[in-house]
Amino acid sequence: MSAEASIPVVINGAAGKMGREVVKAVAAAEGMHLVGAVDRSPELIGQDVGVVAGCGELEIPILSDLQSVLVLATQEPVQGVMVDFTHPKGVYENVRSAIAYGVRPVVGTTGLTPEQISDLAAFAEKASTGAIIAPNFSIGVILLQQAAMQAAKYFDHVEIIELHHNQKADAPSGTAIKTAEMLAEIKNQYNPAQVKETEQLPGARGSCTAENIRMHSVRLPGLLAHQEVLFGSPGQIYTLRHDTSDRASFMPGVVLAIRKVTELKTLVYGLENIL
Ligand code: NAD
Repeated sequence: MSAEASIPVVINGAAGKMGREVVKAVAAAEGMHLVGAVDRSPELIGQDVGVVAGCGELEIPILSDLQSVLVLATQEPVQGVMVDFTHPKGVYENVRSAIAYGVRPVVGTTGLTPEQISDLAAFAEKASTGAIIAPNFSIGVILLQQAAMQAAKYFDHVEIIELHHNQKADAPSGTAIKTAEMLAEIKNQYNPAQVKETEQLPGARGSCTAENIRMHSVRLPGLLAHQEVLFGSPGQIYTLRHDTSDRASFMPGVVLAIRKVTELKTLVYGLENIL
């Protein structure tokens, strides 16, 4: 790819745990370059984002105002991309702002509701702007979800357990919700009742989707991001499990999404749809 064709990238949430990994990944990737970094951590505003991320000076300060950084991405010969790893509270507005500026969003932040996702899809389509929302950028999770869809053809009973570090704001995880949505494509009801259940403590049986899929969220320091999908039938349990041990595992998916989103004119939800 020529220097002119290099994709300008803005990272929102650049000082966060995922944002710092994205800074390193974009700085190291071919065919893209960082033009701006945004975060809300007051003590890091004005600092060089490369220094904060630990990959050496990049001469790009962390700024607090997304709009002004989006403008930088519009002043390049190639249409820009905004990568967002921020917080469930702000992500919807961030994505709307990016689309309004003609900057294509690649969103890893979880916690968007189905209504917000379909609203953003309509907004992206109207603006003819590509966008990618992926609750999980790890290839291992995508493979787990594909295997779960296969297993769901043969098992009527399934429960999902997701385990994360205790700084995670939303529950259940976006990955667990997406997994349940994929299982819902196979069957519209799971876990036929065997007995009338009562909960001695509210929530003991976890949360429950419209398809009666149970989800359980564990939050502990020491965990990073993990998911189990357990299928049961008389005399057997089939367990699918994925463990993330390093945030670097998400980066090939993020870099791929930055490249793919430039070819899109609508919003795509789920990394599996761009592989
Ligand atoms: P984090 O708290 O370490 O980082 C978030 C950063 O965003 C912080 O530095 C914070 O100051 C900043 N921030 C918050 N709101 C902001 C706003 N409105 N504008 C600009 N900056 C803002 O969190 P994290 O572990 O990096 O995770 C971020 C999000 O990514 C979470 O929703 C998490 O669930 C999700 N996540 C997704 C994947 C995936 O593969 N899709 C993987 C891991 C985490």
